[in-house]
Amino acid sequence: MDTERAFYIGRFQPYHLGHHIVIEELSSEIDELVIGVGSAQRSHTITDPFTAGERVVMISKALSGLGIPFYVIPIEDVEYNSLWTAHVRARVPSFSVVYSNNSLVARLFEVAGVEVRALPLFRRDVYSGSEIRRRMLSGENWEELVPECVSQLIHEIDGVGRIQKVAQTDTQAP
Ligand code: NAD
Repeated sequence: MDTERAFYIGRFQPYHLGHHIVIEELSSEIDELVIGVGSAQRSHTITDPFTAGERVVMISKALSGLGIPFYVIPIEDVEYNSLWTAHVRARVPSFSVVYSNNSLVARLFEVAGVEVRALPLFRRDVYSGSEIRRRMLSGENWEELVPECVSQLIHEIDGVGRIQKVAQTDTQAP
């Protein structure tokens, strides 16, 4: 039987337990997984604080015990949505199915003729990048929303200090 390789993309700002639970669940349905780190060109802003390299490390460490082969590949955005799936295809190992809840991602791959499967959402009210970044800014507990190795990495790079500094700069800008 052919290997079923799937594609899953996110911004992972940061990688959190919602992403993690989904990936662990779908790993029982597929043979290999390609994880695209989207908006790879973005970092050091309130909405996108972490670099592509930092996000690759978060994901790779958190999934070290996944049990199926996986590839974590940064993908820059492109201006033309209509060209995006070809841009993705040119950068990653071939895949036959896409898992996504993002309606734009799903639509673009469907138009390109790729099978798209939806995923369950887990505690979306708190397992969410924007909620985690909000908590980082306000000094609340965010660590409980990410895998332990991700919170360790964010502490090592002073990710909270970074997002707080960027927020000050943004507030002071005219
Ligand atoms: P994200 O990190 O917000 O989410 C990634 C996936 O995780 C999504 O399918 C989302 O539904 C799922 N998820 C989030 N919280 C969850 C939870 N609690 N439980 C279960 N699943 C959860 O990233 P995103 O914004 O969906 O990433 C899409 C990427 O694709 C972006 O970087 C975007 O820029 C890129 N993109 C680029 C173009 C272009 O360049 N033209 C076009 C389309 C998409």
